[in-house]
Amino acid sequence: MTDYFQEMGWRELQDGEQPDHFLHLARLLMDYNIYDDNFTGEWPRLPPPASKEIVNKLPDISIDTTDKNCPICLKTFEIGEKAKKMPCEHIFHPVCILTWLEKTNSCPFCRHELPTDDETYEAFKKEKKRAVQRKEDLEVLHNSMFS
Ligand SMILES: [Zn+2]
Ligand SMILES: [Zn+2]
Repeated sequence: MTDYFQEMGWRELQDGEQPDHFLHLARLLMDYNIYDDNFTGEWPRLPPPASKEIVNKLPDISIDTTDKNCPICLKTFEIGEKAKKMPCEHIFHPVCILTWLEKTNSCPFCRHELPTDDETYEAFKKEKKRAVQRKEDLEVLHNSMFS
């Protein structure tokens, strides 16, 4: 009796043979398109790293208390230890926050964003801000007309 798969021109993968990568890629692309349909105006992936210049300028502080800990590694700071202070006032071990900011631009504790060196992302942020501003302007207009 002829095997059904053989008849259809299908066969099992031979030893060392790989599945069809193009098919896999096509599926991935389809998944991404579905993602795009649900696009909500948020940046679709992790924001880019913080601007090198800004990171270099983060002030170093000297710890003078034992009741604070680093939000990244959760270790308690020791008195006299050096730490980096973010513009949002949160403090971290230099190695902890520098590693973090090489990956993405926001404070891991409160999500305060630092500027990035990524032009596309900066344009996206500006556009988002403008959209919020437009909405606020409309609300002000609405309130002034109806109150
Ligand atoms: Zn730490
Ligand atoms: Zn923060």
